[in-house]
Amino acid sequence: MASDERVYLSIGSNIHPRVANIKQAITLLSQLAAVNVIAQSTWYETEPWGKRDQANFYNVSVALTTTLTPHELLMELHAIEHLGHRERKVHWGPRTIDLDIIFWGARQIQTAELTVPHLHAAERNFVLRPTAEIAKNDPQVGPQVQAMTAANTDQSWIKKVGNVSE
Ligand code: ADP
Ligand code: MG
Repeated sequence: MASDERVYLSIGSNIHPRVANIKQAITLLSQLAAVNVIAQSTWYETEPWGKRDQANFYNVSVALTTTLTPHELLMELHAIEHLGHRERKVHWGPRTIDLDIIFWGARQIQTAELTVPHLHAAERNFVLRPTAEIAKNDPQVGPQVQAMTAANTDQSWIKKVGNVSE
């Protein structure tokens, strides 16, 4: 049974075609029987974070409910990344598609495979800005995003994409 606990994902791509890569990932997510995608942020173009000598990213956040466990959802995200021809070559390097679990309601998860809230969420504009858009009325996650945003010192640029294309 899906709970009202909402899960927030950050989805990004910086390899052509960025929009299609992200749309495909959201379509695949929404086709999972155990996942109900309930909101998507607007689209953002963002400066590469951590490793800056690479192409700009497109980023969105999505909110979902699910009957999967966190580990099961992570495995589904890896399968979607695999379908999107994601290759892990360079740490924080270019990627066709990246799906990260940012928040899982009020939960704190710490396992070998998974840290939630995401380890770097609090220091990334490209995560906080789109997630804040769709989490502001969520009593479990809205205050977490607000607190992180208030303390965030990330200087990297992020801009809304009006007309989403490549
Ligand atoms: P990154 O997203 O940091 O660029 P990857 O997408 O290659 O790196 O993920 C590396 C590993 O991070 C994954 O295999 C996964 O086990 C781990 N991980 C830890 N916490 C999370 C999280 N909250 N969401 C997604 N992956 C996570
Ligand atoms: Mg990732």
